[in-house]
Amino acid sequence: MKIPFLDLKLTSEPLRDEITEAIARVMDSGIYILGEEVELFEREWADYCGAKAAVGLANGLDALTLALRALDVGSGDEVLVPSNTYIATWLAVSAVGARPVAVEPDCRTYNMDPGRIGEKITSRTKAILPVHLYGQPADLDPILSLASEKCLKVIEDAAQAHGANYKGRRIGAQGDVVCWSFYPGKNLGAVGDAGAITTNNDAVAERIKTLRNYGSRVKYVHEVKGANSRLDPLQAAVLRVKLRHLDRWTEHRRGIARRYDAGLASTDLQLPLTPGWVESAWHLYVVRSDKRDLLQHRLAELGVGTLIHYPIPPHMQIAYAEYGSVPEELPIARQMAAEVLSLPMGPFLDREMQQAVIDAVNTVDREFRQSSL
Ligand SMILES: *Cc1c(COP(=O)(O)O)cnc(C)c1O
Repeated sequence: MKIPFLDLKLTSEPLRDEITEAIARVMDSGIYILGEEVELFEREWADYCGAKAAVGLANGLDALTLALRALDVGSGDEVLVPSNTYIATWLAVSAVGARPVAVEPDCRTYNMDPGRIGEKITSRTKAILPVHLYGQPADLDPILSLASEKCLKVIEDAAQAHGANYKGRRIGAQGDVVCWSFYPGKNLGAVGDAGAITTNNDAVAERIKTLRNYGSRVKYVHEVKGANSRLDPLQAAVLRVKLRHLDRWTEHRRGIARRYDAGLASTDLQLPLTPGWVESAWHLYVVRSDKRDLLQHRLAELGVGTLIHYPIPPHMQIAYAEYGSVPEELPIARQMAAEVLSLPMGPFLDREMQQAVIDAVNTVDREFRQSSL
């Protein structure tokens, strides 16, 4: 049996009629920019997150960038970001003219280590930008209390954490602004690019609404040098359909994670650690192995698709050449990049496929042990 890493078509297939109907509704409305469909999704997404307001945007990178702008983070400021994240987190900080300052992760949870944040705070630090990587909430309480002590803003990158819980609270209403991506492969994904922010601060929501629409609230009156980053009503309509299935999908992901945990427990792989106070959204199930490349290669031969999130940390990218020159810089991020492997995960993955993944990983693990005897 061949098991793809991810199959979006299989996930959407059962919703085909509902989605087609939603798209037709937008086509028939004659309203193709903002409008009711976007407003309804914003209301539903804010309610889902337990936040006062949501603002629909064009994508997750814009959500981060506009959140930073709305909180007046800009030139000369420093923003603390994880050393191991998708590069969008860093790019948003750079886009507003601020400097990303990397904080190393806790290598068992993969998330920003709160114990390492304090040492990175300077007089220029303006905000902390934790990422809920792979769907698992970062340890927010120490981050929020440090931020309030030092008068810093907290912007959360929740692009992978739709429906995740931190200490019993849904992610989406804890930091100053929480940023979402609905890129098709995310836990709640559109059929193209889409994003949003959620916040409990109405004034900040209003600023982001203005920024996304050319800096304008009243047509042809421009208060700030804004962007065009509006959520497409077609995407909003699709997201409204999919939102009704998100909790079921998240439960399915949690079941897969439990079965991987049990089925891989006796292997030499490092399995993801979920502290008791989080409920991960399981965007990804990421294992670690010091023979990662060989593991990925053998799994591919056995028909199991895997991916690496992420093979090159931001500070070692050519785009950030100014950070990467020192080999001993950010060793944990480097080690993660060399060892992590994401197993197939998603609502499309049935029991039989899950068992096939577990069997294949155990087969390769046995091969590794035999060859090291
Ligand atoms: C996907 C992702 C983003 C960017 O979202 P886009 O919608 O693709 O712009 C940002 N941060 C993280 C952690 C992501 O996974």
